[in-house]
Amino acid sequence: MSQVIDDASRVFLPGLVPDALAATVDVVEHEAMARDTFRLRLRCPELARRIVPGQFFMVRAPGRDDPLLGRPFALYDVYDEDGVPAGVDFGYIVVGKLTTLMSGWTAGESVEVWGPLGNGFPPPPTDGHLMLVAGGIGQTPFLAVAREALGLRRYGEEPEASAPGAVPRIIEHRPRRVTLCYGARSRDYLAGLDDFRMEGLEVRLSTDDGTAGRHGFVTALLVEAIEGGDRPDAVYCCGPEPMMHAVQQICQKHAIPCWLSLESPMACGFGACFSCVTRVREGDGPDDWDYRRTCVEGPVFPAEKLVF
Ligand SMILES: Cc1cc2nc3c(=O)[nH]c(=O)nc-3n(C[C@H](O)[C@H](O)[C@H](O)COP(=O)(O)OP(=O)(O)OC[C@H]3O[C@@H](n4cnc5c(N)ncnc54)[C@H](O)[C@@H]3O)c2cc1C
Repeated sequence: MSQVIDDASRVFLPGLVPDALAATVDVVEHEAMARDTFRLRLRCPELARRIVPGQFFMVRAPGRDDPLLGRPFALYDVYDEDGVPAGVDFGYIVVGKLTTLMSGWTAGESVEVWGPLGNGFPPPPTDGHLMLVAGGIGQTPFLAVAREALGLRRYGEEPEASAPGAVPRIIEHRPRRVTLCYGARSRDYLAGLDDFRMEGLEVRLSTDDGTAGRHGFVTALLVEAIEGGDRPDAVYCCGPEPMMHAVQQICQKHAIPCWLSLESPMACGFGACFSCVTRVREGDGPDDWDYRRTCVEGPVFPAEKLVF
């Protein structure tokens, strides 16, 4: 069973993240998604009920000083048991200390988690074409985004609305179309394709080595769509920084509203440490920018505001 720390310690820095809670929870399930890529399921109903697509939470291994700090992970899904959002899923790729440690976790492992954190994606365009552009593990926020945009699931219900037996709320005004353009290094690294198989979502793939989908970068899929007369009305993007920079420039050139979800390394996740700052434009001048914290002012920013 998850154990939520008492009310006083559940709330971090009121004013910054008043809704965030901290808990020590159990790993419920752990499964491979692709090469070096796994999905972890944590039992944490309080977080599952609050979190919305594009938000994230911090994960830490309790009782260890190496790695000492938590690491941020995007919401992949809240999972339903008997129609109740009872936990959170996140997908991760093994790159360093914590993710290597995590790859050995099994059901029953205790994990420290705090969230929900960050702002999430804005509401999708009503009756337009929403294009999700994902590079590598940057696909993780988009399962929940797609499900919600297509009206298949609603996230972030009030606790009362999530009571057993409650009927999930459906978005009334939603995009006419949702397309996912998803690129990875090679076929082996494409993760969660079965999850993305849902009614109404068109999935277009690319791989750097040509082993699946279009041979080349995922940005080529975006350019192809625009030049082929299938111009999206909005683009949400997450992936490696050079890819997001390229998507920013493509969207700017074609005057397409675009939001980028940054994956800046961060230490606290709730605005105290300033380790995750990024340059955000404040006016029109080339030097008219200031540092903003990815964890509280992001991780999702309007693309035109970011200075790479
Ligand atoms: C909002 C947000 C959401 C995110 N969501 C996800 C997600 O859903 N899934 C996901 O997989 N990731 C996600 N990330 C990224 C994730 O947080 C990092 O991959 C994670 O922090 C890595 O932790 P680690 O301890 O395994 O790696 P670390 O040990 O912290 O290493 C991080 C990187 O530094 C490199 N590195 C470490 N030590 C050295 C060294 N001595 N010299 C050179 N390089 C070194 C590693 O190879 C690795 O690439 C997200 C990030 C943010 C900000």
